[in-house]
Amino acid sequence: MTGLEDLPIRDDLRGLTPYGAPQLDVPVRLNTNENSYPLPEPVVEAIGKALAAELRDLNRYPDRDAVALRADLAGYLGHGLTVEQVWAANGSNEIQQQLLQAFGGPGRSALGFVPAYSMHPLLALGTGTRWVPARRGVDFGLTADEAVAQVREHRPDVVFLCSPNNPTGTALDPTVVAAVLDAAPGMVVVDEAYAEFARPGTVSALAVLPGHPRLVVTRTMSKAFGFAGGRLGYLAADAAVVRAVQLVRLPYHLSALTQAAARAALAHRDALLGTVSAIMGERDRIVATLRARGLRVADSDANFVLFETGGDQATAWRALLDQGVLVRDVGLPGWLRVTAGTPAETDAFLAAMETLR
Ligand SMILES: *Cc1c(COP(=O)(O)O)cnc(C)c1O
Repeated sequence: MTGLEDLPIRDDLRGLTPYGAPQLDVPVRLNTNENSYPLPEPVVEAIGKALAAELRDLNRYPDRDAVALRADLAGYLGHGLTVEQVWAANGSNEIQQQLLQAFGGPGRSALGFVPAYSMHPLLALGTGTRWVPARRGVDFGLTADEAVAQVREHRPDVVFLCSPNNPTGTALDPTVVAAVLDAAPGMVVVDEAYAEFARPGTVSALAVLPGHPRLVVTRTMSKAFGFAGGRLGYLAADAAVVRAVQLVRLPYHLSALTQAAARAALAHRDALLGTVSAIMGERDRIVATLRARGLRVADSDANFVLFETGGDQATAWRALLDQGVLVRDVGLPGWLRVTAGTPAETDAFLAAMETLR
């Protein structure tokens, strides 16, 4: 059998294995921060109708600029955003890949404050962008001073901020975003995949967009909207940023079916986002229960919780899996991440946690 090493593959890809969380068929899947609730039946019907209406015309390429969808997304975001300031792609992963293709690449660098979203360094790798892992402070926090000092030291072309941060769950103080924007010589990307779950009073970086053409906010329908399988992510930024990613995007990257399904889902946003408050309730229950049991837990503005296992995390991960509960080992010694899902899933997780000690 031909091995990868037999192919003339790029040197920086040699010896690597593909990234991805285990997709195991177990009763309680709380490892990828999906929304545990299936789409409500009226939304299923609406998406079905929208898809059916596209089928005859699949002989034609889709709207290359996805204008109608981007207008809908701008309307959802508010903040006075217009269609020219919003761009959509197959997940926010593709959005961030396009941003690195336009603003990173060979000879350039991207910096993130780890632990953060594990895809940021992988997207940097894939686009030939040098990755700079900057540090977070105590308890995975990040102050403006800590962030600015490292941005000044490394002068990256792209800074990734993640708020609420994955895997820790905590949203950034808006002063950190402002300070990084001030200090960074290049683009600042704020990954707000979990914005809809943030605790009251949390400020989105969308509010800072006016007058800041180097700021990009990325969002997704994968989490709060329960649309992970639909693959729809988007960004909001200065219109010039949208024109920049249009230089590197594949023509027709977003299929007619994806555009239609996402528009139908957005039209039913109230029904889809109806699960958010219940999920936030489960998240807060997980935090409170684990803390009451004496475990350290990070503050969460997301639909997941980072918690200390009270021992080796790989052993705890396996013990939970043996009881049918799949959580995420993000490689932080002593810590695991669990998604907040349905009340029954929380019960199963908390019961399985009891048996660890
Ligand atoms: C889940 C997640 C995303 C979502 O990626 P999609 O490609 O939109 O599914 C983006 N950023 C972070 C930090 C995430 O955790």
